[in-house]
Amino acid sequence: MMNPLYALCVRLRRKSAVERITGNFMKIAFLDRDGTVVRDYPDQDWANIKSPEFLTGSINGMQDLIKNGFEIIIVTNQYLIGEGFITIEQYEAFTEEFLKILEANHIKILDIFFCPHSRKERCCCRKPEIGLIEQAVNKYPDIDLSSSFFCGDSICDMECAENAKIKFYGIHVGSDPISNLSDLADIVSGQR
Ligand SMILES: [Mg+2]
Ligand SMILES: [Zn+2]
Repeated sequence: MMNPLYALCVRLRRKSAVERITGNFMKIAFLDRDGTVVRDYPDQDWANIKSPEFLTGSINGMQDLIKNGFEIIIVTNQYLIGEGFITIEQYEAFTEEFLKILEANHIKILDIFFCPHSRKERCCCRKPEIGLIEQAVNKYPDIDLSSSFFCGDSICDMECAENAKIKFYGIHVGSDPISNLSDLADIVSGQR
């Protein structure tokens, strides 16, 4: 049986025949945010974090991904909101800073999808569930999952990629870990 997420892609893609003829599919680097692009903190510390600290290699790595034809989509679990560690306003202010720094480094990301729900809510968007990927595919029907990948630093990222049947690169996680986002450029440049 066809993977439901791929089936969704195929169904949505029928609507955009023009792009199909021109072969204009999007390859996406789905990136986790905390611990992958920017520094992560213990839950209770996030209330005091006003601006992001980009991890070693993440700016270069994202620039290289874009050079290699990838669009970047951030997919991030923010149960911090649902569980009261931070407010939605704090999340938005941090996101604004995050985007400002990216812009200053000439990095234009395609989108950010986040899960605001608490862990108790058992929603279908908190990784390892694939809801965030589904949201992305619904919004951008030309995404080609088979030439996309997911990179993250947690088991939940790895399992989300597995559940969505997307190639996964783990930062310090999984069977063949990389150390930061700049390691991806060499790996994916062969995929063009
Ligand atoms: Mg993470
Ligand atoms: Zn959710």
